[in-house]
Amino acid sequence: MSTDQYNATVVQKVLMTPGLMTLRVKPDEESPEFKPGQYTVLGLSSSAHRLQESEPDPVAYDEEKMIKRAYSISSASIVKEYFEFYISIVRSGQLTPRLFALEQGDRLLIGKKAVGMFTLDNVPVEKNLLFISTGTGLAPYMSMLRSELHLHPGRTFAVLHGASCSWDLGYRDELSMMDRLTPTFHYVPTITEPDKDPTWNGHSEFIEPILSSGKLEEQVGMPLTPENFDVFLCGNPKMVEGVASMLESNGFKEHSKKEPGEIHVERFWK
Ligand SMILES: Cc1cc2nc3c(=O)[nH]c(=O)nc-3n(C[C@H](O)[C@H](O)[C@H](O)COP(=O)(O)OP(=O)(O)OC[C@H]3O[C@@H](n4cnc5c(N)ncnc54)[C@H](O)[C@@H]3O)c2cc1C
Repeated sequence: MSTDQYNATVVQKVLMTPGLMTLRVKPDEESPEFKPGQYTVLGLSSSAHRLQESEPDPVAYDEEKMIKRAYSISSASIVKEYFEFYISIVRSGQLTPRLFALEQGDRLLIGKKAVGMFTLDNVPVEKNLLFISTGTGLAPYMSMLRSELHLHPGRTFAVLHGASCSWDLGYRDELSMMDRLTPTFHYVPTITEPDKDPTWNGHSEFIEPILSSGKLEEQVGMPLTPENFDVFLCGNPKMVEGVASMLESNGFKEHSKKEPGEIHVERFWK
């Protein structure tokens, strides 16, 4: 039985909207060390039930199978009691309709290691940091900010986060609070469906126009140049590719193992 592989328990589930949640998972054994920005694996058996409101299973399972997917850790690296994840449902997907059916106390599989290169390790200490994301692409940044913001008082941090409506801007209260309390931190949320959200009075554009219009630089108080900033990109692949090419035309280079650069990319899906 693939449920024999379960090695963790849900200790908290918070639904921000019916399709967006934070999930805290406590491993049975000591939590592995991780660097802020890294990811691990979550898994459930194909026999686990799917959320009722989701679409039918895309796969017919002949036999029980463990369905595993990667998830960025959003909790601080010093927190040892649980791992937090920020997850959106793909209603036609294999794993997320099962993850959304979990309740506190339910069992699941968690990876024994955290991995990934989307960390602050490759950023020179004197550089400022711009974290750009759509949707749950914010998850790795939450871990970086919760773990590192207070360690770098001389460094400017900015988060540009896009979502459809204000209620999809997860962690908004926490990020707004960081913005109020930390002069070197700037939170720039934006929504793309303002017609559905008439009380919203913040930015209501896609990420690219906020960057090209200079609004981000105005809010952060510093030009967006490769000398000033390393830029992290995570979320919708169209946004990631669009912003990366916009930055490249302004002199930024994508970071790789072979060649250091100022653009760091995490691709959740293609
Ligand atoms: C390194 C890494 C870190 C990740 N971290 C997170 C995270 O923190 N939070 C999170 O929610 N997801 C994250 N993902 C995506 C996650 O691994 C799954 O792909 C996602 O949850 C869908 O799984 P599924 O089994 O329900 O759908 P599947 O059955 O695997 O896929 C259904 C289809 O939906 C597409 N798809 C996948 N994700 C989305 C999405 N969010 N919106 C629209 N279409 C999508 C896929 O390309 C696929 O074609 C991460 C992926 C990677 C590679």
